[in-house]
Amino acid sequence: QAKEAGRNSWRFFESRLHEATQARVEIETCLRGALERGEFRLVYQPVGDTASGRIFGAEALIRWDSPVLGAVAPDRFIEIAERTGLVVPIGDWVLETACRQAAQWQREFDPGFHIAINVSPRQFRADDFVSRVAQVLAQQGVAPHTLMIEVTEGLLLHDHDEVLKAFEALIAVGARLAMDDFGTGYASLRYLKHFPFHTVKIDREFVRDIGNDPDDRVLVDTAIRMGKSLGLSVIAEGVETADQLAILRGFDCDLIQGYYFSKPLSAEGLHAVLAKALVAPQHLINPA
Ligand code: C2E
Ligand code: MG
Ligand code: MG
Ligand code: MG
Repeated sequence: QAKEAGRNSWRFFESRLHEATQARVEIETCLRGALERGEFRLVYQPVGDTASGRIFGAEALIRWDSPVLGAVAPDRFIEIAERTGLVVPIGDWVLETACRQAAQWQREFDPGFHIAINVSPRQFRADDFVSRVAQVLAQQGVAPHTLMIEVTEGLLLHDHDEVLKAFEALIAVGARLAMDDFGTGYASLRYLKHFPFHTVKIDREFVRDIGNDPDDRVLVDTAIRMGKSLGLSVIAEGVETADQLAILRGFDCDLIQGYYFSKPLSAEGLHAVLAKALVAPQHLINPA
C-alpha cells in the first residue's frame, strides 16, 4: 500500500517535473527571434511622490505577447532569457526604448521625469554595458541623473570587485542605481553598505501587510529610516490601499509605487495621464 502510494506520488512528481521542463523548453524556443519579430513592448508604472502626489517618474516593465504562447509574464521568461543569454539583446532594447520614450516625456512634460529600467545580471556584466548606457543617454538626449538602473541581489552575490567597478563607472556617467526587492535576499544590508546605491526599493512582500501586521510595520519603518540615514531615497513597492499609503506617509517614505497610485500603463496611457497632470498636478493620487 505504502509502496504503491510512494510510486504514485513519484510518478506525479515526475510528470509535474516533465511538464515544467516542457513549458520552459517551449518558452525558450519561442523566445528565440521574439525580439526580431517585434513581440515585446514596454509598459510604464508611475512612481509617485508620497508627500505631493505628483508623478516622479516611471518604471519600464517588459511585456511579451507571444503569438504561440499568448502573454507570458516576465517572471516566467526573464530567468530563461538570462540563462540563454537572450536577455542581453532584449535588455538593450529595453534600455533604448525606455530612454527614447523618457526623452519624449521630458521634452513634452517635465525635464525631471525619471525612468527606471530593470537590468539582469548577465546584461549588467556584459563588457560594453556601461558604455552602451552612456551612448544611449547621449543619443536619446536623456539627462543621466534621470535614468535609474534597478538591480537585485542576484547581481551582487559574487565578483564584488567587478560589479563595484561597473557601479562606479555608471555613477561617473551620471546614472543612478537602485536596489530592487530590498529585504527579500539575506544579505541586503551588507550590500547596501558595500555598493553605492542611490535608492532602495522596499519589496512589496513587506508592504502588503503593514495595515494589519505590527511586525511588518516595524520592519518597513526601520528600513525607511535606515535608507534615509544612509542618504538613500526610498521607494515602497506594491502599495495597493489608502491605508498602506497613509502609513507610509507617516513613515516619511519618499516615493511610492503600486496599484493604488497606478497600474503599469501603455506608453499612450501614461502619456495621457502626464498631459492631464500638467493641468491638474494633484488629481493623480488619492488624498490620505
Ligand atoms: P520588479 O522590478 O520588482 O517590478 C515590480 C513588479 O510588481 C511588476 O511586475 C509590477 O507590475 C508589479 N506590481 C506593481 N505594483 C503592484 C501592486 O500594487 N501589487 C502587486 N501585486 N504587484 C505590483 P511585472 O511587470 O510582472 O515584473 C515582474 C518582475 O520581472 C520585475 O519585478 C522585474 O524583476 C522583472 N522585469 C520586468 N521587466 C523587466 C525588464 O525589462 N528586464 C528585466 N531584466 N527584468 C524585468
Ligand atoms: Mg524593478
Ligand atoms: Mg521590485
Ligand atoms: Mg521582483
